[in-house]
Amino acid sequence: MISCRDISRLVTDFGEGALGFMARVQFRLHLLFCPDCKRHVEKIGMMTRSLGSLPDDEEFPPHLNPVLETLKEE
Ligand SMILES: [Zn+2]
Repeated sequence: MISCRDISRLVTDFGEGALGFMARVQFRLHLLFCPDCKRHVEKIGMMTRSLGSLPDDEEFPPHLNPVLETLKEE
């Protein structure tokens, strides 16, 4: 399983869509159960917003749209 340390290490690659499919799935699953990492990714996501935006959906705040977009490419 992916750990909180992995999240902080992978968050940049995740935001850039540089992770493999399974890594992204594990990353996202971790965020669903770990509010601390979710906040962290949200903060980073605001800094790496370069992939455009999507309408709000699911349970994520708008700040995470660039991150979500990398998932929806699958
Ligand atoms: Zn965590």
